[in-house]
Amino acid sequence: MALEFACERVGVTDCKHVATADSTEELLTKVAQHASDAHGVELNDTLVDYALTTVRET
Ligand SMILES: [Zn+2]
Repeated sequence: MALEFACERVGVTDCKHVATADSTEELLTKVAQHASDAHGVELNDTLVDYALTTVRET
C-alpha cells in the first residue's frame, strides 16, 4: 500500500505531477519539494491539511 498525491486533485489542473510514498511524512516531504520547485509555493499548515484530504491509498 502506498499513499498518492496528485496536483490535479488540489485544483492544479495543468500539472500532472503525482507523488507516491509509503508514509505521510515521506509524502509531505515530496509534495513540499514539488510545490516549491514547480509552483513556487511554500506549504503551510492549511495547505498541508488540505493536501492530506486529497491523498489516496493505492
Ligand atoms: Zn504540481
